[in-house]
Amino acid sequence: MSIADNLHNIKSSLPENVTLVAVSKTKPVADLMEAYNAGQRIFGENKIQEMTEKWEQMPKDIEWHMIGHVQTNKVKYMAPFVSLVHGVDSVKLLKEINKQAKKNQRVINCLLQMHIAEEETKFGMDEQELDELLNSGEFKQMENVKVTGLMGMATFTDNQEQVKKEFTHLKNIFDKYAAKPLTVNCQLSTLSMGMSGDYTTAIACGSTMVRIGSSIFGSR
Ligand SMILES: *Cc1c(COP(=O)(O)O)cnc(C)c1O
Repeated sequence: MSIADNLHNIKSSLPENVTLVAVSKTKPVADLMEAYNAGQRIFGENKIQEMTEKWEQMPKDIEWHMIGHVQTNKVKYMAPFVSLVHGVDSVKLLKEINKQAKKNQRVINCLLQMHIAEEETKFGMDEQELDELLNSGEFKQMENVKVTGLMGMATFTDNQEQVKKEFTHLKNIFDKYAAKPLTVNCQLSTLSMGMSGDYTTAIACGSTMVRIGSSIFGSR
């Protein structure tokens, strides 16, 4: 099946309130253009350099999402154009994004990454760290970032019950903070969870944004 067919099939299976991020990491611009020509306008990349090269070459009505772990010293390269940073997991990183956004006279939307999986290797915060970040004086003063939601990755397993438990845990944290009146630079409306292998479960658990790569572009 073609990229356009894959996209069409996935899109028609998503509820209206769920946004599709086409994860195009490692794929050539020709593949991304095929998705673009089929109507896709939101692309996710996990390396800043690769995303910047693709941004330079592709139409300018694309929304670029950084979904990978971000190194502070590279934030400046994406600050002029990135629309959403999914993997923010420290005040230090948020501070750098704020600084670079300010230089570009922009406000950059960010999702805070939560650690919900069993694996030690995945990045992200626990609920206490989230609470500390959102209530810190430092964060409240940042005028060039806006926290618009949370992101998480479930354990890589065939056990959908476990995946469901992890996504539900994240949804509960999301609901708790979405309901609280917070600062002007924090309004949670996006819950980014679900990839090719688990997006159906993620949507059943309340995801509003899925990040799908291999089911659209083929295996990497
Ligand atoms: C690669 C990646 C995805 C997409 O994974 P697929 O299994 O190919 O759909 C989603 N989220 C993140 C953070 C990724 O790094």
